[in-house]
Amino acid sequence: MERRDKTNYYLDIAEVVAERGTCLRRNFGAIIVKNDEIIATGYTGAPRGRKNCSDLNYCRREQLNIPRGTHYELCRSVHAEANCIISAPRKDMIGSTLYLVCKDPKSGKLVENTNSCAMCKRLIINAGIENVIIRDTKNSFRTVKVKDWIENDDSLSNEFGY
Ligand SMILES: [Zn+2]
Ligand SMILES: [Zn+2]
Repeated sequence: MERRDKTNYYLDIAEVVAERGTCLRRNFGAIIVKNDEIIATGYTGAPRGRKNCSDLNYCRREQLNIPRGTHYELCRSVHAEANCIISAPRKDMIGSTLYLVCKDPKSGKLVENTNSCAMCKRLIINAGIENVIIRDTKNSFRTVKVKDWIENDDSLSNEFGY
């Protein structure tokens, strides 16, 4: 058997993290890696102690058929990237890489061509994260330079994840 390359190894871990997600619309898994060490993990879920979309059996965004990229506030979840960022010290996140995987909770399948939402992009920029690697399929991914999100400021509103 061929040895798994390092990027897909980290993406595999982020995919397992996504499986802990509780939203009924979209589940993301994120891990932050710095100097070849995982420094934080995060998945989509309600704030600690509050009920999850999966506890209530509905996600308001799903229920109201909210179009992709809009009205994130209607889902009660904290996004995976945000959960990751709040559990790591900023000094450790400077220059790090965030690995991101998205799964559709209904089909259990990977969601291709996904991205962080506009709010998470802001957090990622301010956390000092340098690259975001996003899985499309089991063996394909895209590498995004966070610098591009800073420089191509106006594209922020028309790229979305959840
Ligand atoms: Zn939800
Ligand atoms: Zn987000």
